[in-house]
Amino acid sequence: MLVLPHSLSLITTHHCTAACDHCCFSCSPKITTRIPKEKITSLINEAQRIPTMKLVCFTGGECFTLGNELDEHIAQATKFGLITRCITNGYWAISLEHARRRMKKAKESGLKEINFSTGTFHQKYVPIERILNGTLAAAEAGIFVVINMEICDQSDEIKNNIILKNEKLIELHNAKKILIQRTVWIESDGNASLSHPENRSRFNPSNKSACRTVLNVLSVTPTQDLIACCGLHLEKIDELHLGNLSNSSIMDVLKNTQDDLLKIWIHLDGVEEVYLQAQKEDPSISLPLSSTHPCETCLSLYKNKEAFSAIQKVVKRNEKEIMERYRNKITLQIFDRNVINNLSF
Ligand code: SF4
Ligand code: SF4
Repeated sequence: MLVLPHSLSLITTHHCTAACDHCCFSCSPKITTRIPKEKITSLINEAQRIPTMKLVCFTGGECFTLGNELDEHIAQATKFGLITRCITNGYWAISLEHARRRMKKAKESGLKEINFSTGTFHQKYVPIERILNGTLAAAEAGIFVVINMEICDQSDEIKNNIILKNEKLIELHNAKKILIQRTVWIESDGNASLSHPENRSRFNPSNKSACRTVLNVLSVTPTQDLIACCGLHLEKIDELHLGNLSNSSIMDVLKNTQDDLLKIWIHLDGVEEVYLQAQKEDPSISLPLSSTHPCETCLSLYKNKEAFSAIQKVVKRNEKEIMERYRNKITLQIFDRNVINNLSF
């Protein structure tokens, strides 16, 4: 499989201190499925042997429930020269002092970036004040912070403003020490009805974009499946599963996987553009215009039999062109990397 991944996303566990409605992996405190510790160690070992790999992301579920083990993995990746990122709901930041102690330890292990997930659905389980504590403590320790705050019509903006209107956080954001961004909260297997304004549709030309993660980020699930992206619906789209790693290495799975033109096309032009081409092939296909996230569009494309069959025909006809564009892109990436490497010597 022709692929130059820059990141490895480890969905370390499905265990979480929260059980947010519409969590993309339906995580909860009751679930304990996780990648075994020794396997995480060997995956990080493998990551450093993949020349294009730059970053290891620890996510879940809630990766901080791994406790000291998380720091061991961060330290291992750091020793190998890999950048590290953790994605958390911030449950552990019960006070500023507590958060400072946790972030000091993470910094000493080498953690470069921490992402806090928050918003109305998270706040049922994790008070927003903990995001404030965690962010201030991480920024003080010199760890770059990203706050991803859910957005949908059902969001409680008064509560969200504790973060969005906090003067200290605005100052840190303006100084580029933290990044506060809104990320759409989409339907998964939850109960609450979610809605978004029409202008958030991914089919709005200004919202369309290539998929930045497929073939760039490889993920490993708690059941040790290797996935071709780190998308929200990765567990629901079988075609994104490349193979199981219980008894195989990442390189073995990649070597035994054929290039997939559909994934390549989604990587190049984005899933909405691909869906539009399916509709051009078969005008009876209706587009999922209410989709507000590329992974939502993607799930629809893979599950809609008519759209999937139409796109296979288009892909086959354009095989040569798609592969040529992909090869050119990869060649440029290799060239860029050589230039950067040469400059750093
Ligand atoms: S905090 Fe994240 S992983 Fe945990 S239940 Fe909520 S959305 Fe899922
Ligand atoms: S759009 Fe599809 S391929 Fe891209 S990240 Fe989402 S699920 Fe993965």
